[in-house]
Amino acid sequence: MGADFQPDETRIKAVLPALPETTRFVLIGHAHYDHLMDLGYYLRTSPRQPIYVGSRTAYNILLGLSPTALDFRVADAPPHLGRPIRAGRVVVTPFLSNHAPHVFGLTFMDGEVTEPRRSPPADAWDYKLGRTLMFMVDFLGEQDQIAARVFINGAASEPTVVRAIPDEFLRQHPIDVAILCVPGWDKVTDYPKSLLDRLQPKRIVLSHYDDFFQPYLHGEDPHQGMAFVPFARYEAFVEELMTSNRRRVTPPSLVEPKTGDTICIDC
Ligand SMILES: [Zn+2]
Repeated sequence: MGADFQPDETRIKAVLPALPETTRFVLIGHAHYDHLMDLGYYLRTSPRQPIYVGSRTAYNILLGLSPTALDFRVADAPPHLGRPIRAGRVVVTPFLSNHAPHVFGLTFMDGEVTEPRRSPPADAWDYKLGRTLMFMVDFLGEQDQIAARVFINGAASEPTVVRAIPDEFLRQHPIDVAILCVPGWDKVTDYPKSLLDRLQPKRIVLSHYDDFFQPYLHGEDPHQGMAFVPFARYEAFVEELMTSNRRRVTPPSLVEPKTGDTICIDC
């Protein structure tokens, strides 16, 4: 976490050596190192660069890597906040969210990076949180109609954030899949119930629960010995989710990926 805190390229190459060719967007929910630090590798190595969407802080940190080509949409302020960004048949709409505290009401590596960095981040504390975003992703059909809608949040959030998504936006199309962050769920009120009450997704995909302080292992199963992020209380989260789902008229199905799983959204 201190000096010499750099991405491990050997490991990146072993896990995801290249972005899939059809990648349109890279969505950065916030700028903590576990969400941002490996992007420098893809900025250097991808022959076709996707659009990066994130906060001003995330942008300023990436500029410290002196990327030769970076199409970055700063999405925590106008003109992109709450507005659709389209690439091919994919439309991303970013909304402001927030980040659950880690312990005792404290969020580590808090704050913003307001000026472009002139050098690569040197330690974990250079990856400041910045503003937190959640994303709605629409996959369009032949006639540009919404064929599938996916909600993504990269951090557990306070119940008030759902109000950032306007009613008329939600009326456009039901949410087929909600990808929800697990850790931090018990550090905020009413998560994820408040989100699910408003979004009413058909399916829930859980995310961000394998212990990223340990070397990555492919195929770790949350029900068969996976090492979880410290204090994630994964089983308790799933139990609470199942309990609240049972009270719903049409309960969403639950997907609990193993590490390295690819989720195919075919609605
Ligand atoms: Zn974080």
